[in-house]
Amino acid sequence: MHFTFDGLQVRVVPVTPFRQNCSVLWNPETAEAVVVDPGGDADVLAQFLGQNNLTVSAIILTHGHLDHAGGVAPLCRILAERQGKAPVVIGPDKRDEFLLSSIEKQAGHFGLSELENATADEYSEDGQVLDLIGRKLHVLHVPGHTPGHVVFIDHAAKIVFAGDTLFKGAVGRTDFAYADESLLLNSIREKLFSLDDGYIVVPGHGGHTTVGSERSGNPFFNAG
Ligand SMILES: [Zn+2]
Repeated sequence: MHFTFDGLQVRVVPVTPFRQNCSVLWNPETAEAVVVDPGGDADVLAQFLGQNNLTVSAIILTHGHLDHAGGVAPLCRILAERQGKAPVVIGPDKRDEFLLSSIEKQAGHFGLSELENATADEYSEDGQVLDLIGRKLHVLHVPGHTPGHVVFIDHAAKIVFAGDTLFKGAVGRTDFAYADESLLLNSIREKLFSLDDGYIVVPGHGGHTTVGSERSGNPFFNAG
């Protein structure tokens, strides 16, 4: 998937055996980039960044699951060497710290030894606005899949990086001990469905959708 907006390029690169949608956002005028959820395959991401001569100023994370954050440490090592400076790592809400620090344990169950624990330089919080690559990325806390899950919204481009909250025709899993389905559904109703129909939603897995088509057609919000 590739999106082009006035002043913003977005490329979605699926990573890990979970086909997690890592998004690379960049400003074509400065070649500065942000990587959203580099869950793994750091070499593939580094190759894409190198081919496009992009300098990564920040890595931002929607939540602490292994397939979203397991590639942070390896990618930072590659970029620190290449750029002379590692990107800043902006985590989800601090309530997901316990997941970031247990990625190696999570990955062990799947035999994915290349994934590593992640450390955030700072955590994000609801209502915060991240000023990165000449864009404003608004942070909303949308818990339920994990306690600290956030989404990132570029209102100028009308695009939402939704992680594992809202999918095309589905929502994120809530069969974890720390998850909460009614909290997830309410968070999506309150936070994501307050956006206009035209906003593009890039979920953590599968194809993209829009707020309008999920509001009207997603079975979790529409009684049969
Ligand atoms: Zn997840």
